Amino acid sequence: MKDRKLLMIPGPIEFEPAVLAALGMPTTSHIAPDFIEVFGQVLERMREVFLAPEGQPFVVAGSGTFAMDLAGANLIETGDRALVVNTGYFGDRYGDLLSRYGAEVAHLRAPVGGRPALRAVEEALEARAYKLMTVTHVDTSTGVVTDIEALGEIARVHDVLLVVDGVCSIAGQELQMDAWGVDVALTASQKAIGTPPGLALMMASPRAMDAFWARKTPVSNYYADWGNWLPIMEAYEAREPSYFGTPAVNLITALNVSLGLILREGMQASFSRHIRISEACKAAIEALGMTQVPIAPELAAATMTAPRFPKGVDGRALLAAIKAAGVVVAGGLHPEIKGKYFRIGHMGAVSQGDVLATVGAVETALAELDYQFEKGVGLAAAMAVLAT
Ligand SMILES: *Cc1c(COP(=O)(O)O)cnc(C)c1O
Repeated sequence: MKDRKLLMIPGPIEFEPAVLAALGMPTTSHIAPDFIEVFGQVLERMREVFLAPEGQPFVVAGSGTFAMDLAGANLIETGDRALVVNTGYFGDRYGDLLSRYGAEVAHLRAPVGGRPALRAVEEALEARAYKLMTVTHVDTSTGVVTDIEALGEIARVHDVLLVVDGVCSIAGQELQMDAWGVDVALTASQKAIGTPPGLALMMASPRAMDAFWARKTPVSNYYADWGNWLPIMEAYEAREPSYFGTPAVNLITALNVSLGLILREGMQASFSRHIRISEACKAAIEALGMTQVPIAPELAAATMTAPRFPKGVDGRALLAAIKAAGVVVAGGLHPEIKGKYFRIGHMGAVSQGDVLATVGAVETALAELDYQFEKGVGLAAAMAVLAT
């Protein structure tokens, strides 16, 4: 009997066998012609996945937090004002990060499970001038999705750089970087991009590059300095050898396979698949009598679901029972509600079978804990969505 569990957390996700196979290939020199071609393809494919034909891609070893740093370190100088449109844990993190680089940070917050109103964002930008605004597209601590298209429009009207933390969204939840006026979009390899952890991926708009070139002071973070990495990215795209810091050869080779699979499915098809799977999962949770952290259905992300534990059910015992039934889900992350909810990730290579297996494990676990519900009602609700 295989003891492998299905990993359904908001990153790392389950990876495609072809991606994992690429990871195990013999490591070559970072200037071997084959690897130069692979890295060049990665950069070209990133523009397609980010829907950013005008963007400048950066791929640097590091986690998603380093991708956030790659944007913050290069766009902030001491005294610059930054507005954080805050929907949870990762908004707090972005504020902390920017203040390390000397930014004067203002947070626009909403109650847990909500998001700041667009009007409130406009009022904040009307009241004071900001250089930069950060938004978490999908906050992994709440499962709340923000309206990047509308925020992009507002950013353009107020001439503020829009930085989108898309670590829990890009390649799963629709993000049209160029069309929506986003200046920096960033993610990490282990989320919907579908490659094991270790790569920070970032895309900068021409406006963001101009803001970088207009800096008056040097970037205080040596490893993150775009000035060090831009010539490297340009060289790989031109299929020329170069060196600043050794690239993660195997991870980049695996990333190329993963980006190829994403583009073979097609961006719109992938976004639609994520919506269907998300709706199936959310329908099941609702049918099982559980509420969710996002306070309205239109605020709920397509890449994850954040159910609150039902009344009378011990959260820790439920998570253990779900795991015993073969599926790993994640506990709470938002400090205000940490012990009251759990998180199911459904992004990247996730299939209909995965979501049904997850709902089945949740039902099995609920039944074991003597929660009263009609057996099978969650699975039936999920299957009804998947059948449409
Ligand atoms: C996972 C995540 C991060 C952090 O990524 P790490 O790879 O863990 O550093 C940042 N923002 C969001 C929205 C995330 O989901």
